[in-house]
Amino acid sequence: MVYPVVVYGDPVLRKKAVDIPKGEDISKLVADMYETMYAAEGMGLAAPQIGKGVRLFVVDTTMVEDEPELKEFKQVFVNAEILETSGETASEEEGCLSIPNIREQVVRDTIIRMRWFDEKWNAYEDTFSGWRARVIQHEYDHIEGTLFIDHLNPLRKRLLKGKLTDISKGMVRTSYRILAPLRK
Ligand code: ZN
Repeated sequence: MVYPVVVYGDPVLRKKAVDIPKGEDISKLVADMYETMYAAEGMGLAAPQIGKGVRLFVVDTTMVEDEPELKEFKQVFVNAEILETSGETASEEEGCLSIPNIREQVVRDTIIRMRWFDEKWNAYEDTFSGWRARVIQHEYDHIEGTLFIDHLNPLRKRLLKGKLTDISKGMVRTSYRILAPLRK
C-alpha cells in the first residue's frame, strides 16, 4: 500500500518517535514503506513521514550510479541508536520527500557507529561513513523529530520560510501524493 507522504508542518514530523515493541510483526509496515518510498522515487523514508511515530526507517540507494558506496546499500533500521559520531564533518546537498523541491547544503558527521534491528529482529552493530552515514543521519533525524532544514543557519532558514509555508498548505508540485497539514 502506498501512503501519501506527510509534508512539512505536520506535528508528526516533530515528535520523537517511540521504539517498536521487540518481536512485533512489522513485515507489512516495512513493505508499505518501501512501496511508498519507491513510488515517490526516494532513497530513504522514515515512519513519521507516513504518519507513524515509531522508530523505523528504510533506505535503498541502489539506484545511485555515481557513488560506489551507495550502489549496494539497502537496509531496514528498527529502533536504531547512534552510538558514536566521528566529530569530523562534511557538507553536501540534501533533499527530503517531506520538504519537496528544496535542496540545501547540510553539514553532518562523516562517520557514525550504529545499533539497530532489521525487520526480522536480528540485531546489528556497524560503522558507516560517507554517503551511507549521511543518508542514515538524515533518516535518523526523522525519528528524533528533526528535519534537515533545522541544520541550516538562521538566515538560510528565513529565506525558505515562504516556500515552507506553501508546502504546509499543499501548494507545491510533486510527482507523488502528499498529505499537507494546512491544506484547505
Ligand atoms: Zn527526509
